[in-house]
Amino acid sequence: MKNLETGIITGEITIGNAFVYRPTSVEPSSVEFMGAEAETEAFRSALEAVKNELSVLAASEDIFAAHYEMADDPMLEEQAIMFIEEGMDAYSAIKSTSEALCAMFDEIDDEYLKARKDDVKDVCRRIADKISGKCDADGFAGLEAGSIIVAEELAPSDTTKMDFSRICGFITEKGSTTSHVCIIARSKGLQAMVGIAGCTSEIMTGDCLIMDGMSGSVIVNPDKGTLDRYRALAEEAAGKEYDPSREVYTADGERIWILGNAGNVEDVRTAVECGAEGIGLFRSEFLYMESEDFPDEESQYKTYAEAAEICGERPLTIRTLDIGGDKALPYLDLEKEENPFLGYRAIRISMDMVSQFKTQIRAILRAGAHGNVRMMFPMIATIEELVKARKLVSECMEELEAEGKTFDKEMLVGMMIETPASVLLADEFAEMADFFSIGTNDLTQYIMAADRGNSKVASLYDPASEAVTKAIRMVILAAGRAGIEVSMCGEYASEPSATSLLLDLGLRKFSVSAPAIRRLKSL
Ligand code: PEP
Ligand code: MG
Repeated sequence: MKNLETGIITGEITIGNAFVYRPTSVEPSSVEFMGAEAETEAFRSALEAVKNELSVLAASEDIFAAHYEMADDPMLEEQAIMFIEEGMDAYSAIKSTSEALCAMFDEIDDEYLKARKDDVKDVCRRIADKISGKCDADGFAGLEAGSIIVAEELAPSDTTKMDFSRICGFITEKGSTTSHVCIIARSKGLQAMVGIAGCTSEIMTGDCLIMDGMSGSVIVNPDKGTLDRYRALAEEAAGKEYDPSREVYTADGERIWILGNAGNVEDVRTAVECGAEGIGLFRSEFLYMESEDFPDEESQYKTYAEAAEICGERPLTIRTLDIGGDKALPYLDLEKEENPFLGYRAIRISMDMVSQFKTQIRAILRAGAHGNVRMMFPMIATIEELVKARKLVSECMEELEAEGKTFDKEMLVGMMIETPASVLLADEFAEMADFFSIGTNDLTQYIMAADRGNSKVASLYDPASEAVTKAIRMVILAAGRAGIEVSMCGEYASEPSATSLLLDLGLRKFSVSAPAIRRLKSL
């Protein structure tokens, strides 16, 4: 059994057998330049044939209507003929045209349009195949029912050869969420994970695969226990009645809390609808990222108050600004750093912008009058940081009091545990924080010295590693000794293979993204 971390959270589980697709792209063995006129004619007749094919396909799939328009675009024809006039044969001319047009798409600063470069490649590949006379070897021969297609990349022309009734999912090395395989998969109600480096070498045809869109991983050849557990989960998700308001308990009757992670008010609503018993992490930075300037107190207050009202009695844990690392603000000119994750981020920035920080603290305190709001600080590494941050909270309370504003005077103030320093000092921190929330996304990268976004060290970036497990245990024990609450809001909390271990370690509060709430509650 092996695990390929993908980080792609789709909320679905798909179980099937791998079918590794390797297109047989045949380069013509010898190409002789037959003169510009003959090459132009060869090119034009291939182009016409492709346009005819695409006009038929366009009737059933929109994507092919777009492909027809690309084939019909005079720019494509003019570019290819220009290459022929410079002395290229028709086959090389369409290959070079493809590269030239793709280079133009690379310049575009728009992810969606950038992804359209795959369409250009696909159209040009069709024309090239027609010129070379390559008969389409059926790369999908032998496809059996219940297959998960694994490929380096897939183009719409590949999908025309597929029998979708035999396919239950797609995994590709290249591509983005806006690439075809995702668009087509979504339109067919199938799960797709794209951009999974090395999948075609790690997976072989016939391997049993679990696409776990809850934790964002692909499990290759799972052991029987794992397979049975996922089968049960998939069946449960497919059919069983789900009561979002149901409370969950361990087999021996201990209460477990499943909370939601949110980036905006809509996420809060969705999480609550899915059965979240509160919000364990409201990432306030998204509010800042969507604004044109630092959001003022009133607009923050309104947003937090709306989220609090949706939560009602349930807790809403608002994390103060966690910017820096891989998250930027367009209006905050941060210096480019050698090691941004080890640099100027989160509480370190807030502490330097005291007036902005106080604006946020005041907004959160005031929103507390609308529900069960709590405040949480990110990236705490030293006792001084927590002392200073809490002092600012007290100052804000005094100011609000003096101004006669309504706010929550008893608001709980907690901290993320996501630095090794906070683990090592967990006992000391537990004396001063009202609660802990374990952020395994960062904690794992800092403990393992493995960048959370670098696929080359993905095998080291493992929240299930002994070191991270030991850290989680230390934090839960420290919280228990001090009698404060501890939850986990990193992605590891939604990992089904980790649930029983986390329960054994004493974790009772899991804060996960909305799609994982139902699965975790059912589990
Ligand atoms: C974490 O680090 O685990 C976490 C929840 O915070 P973020 O992913 O926003 O850094
Ligand atoms: Mg974090």
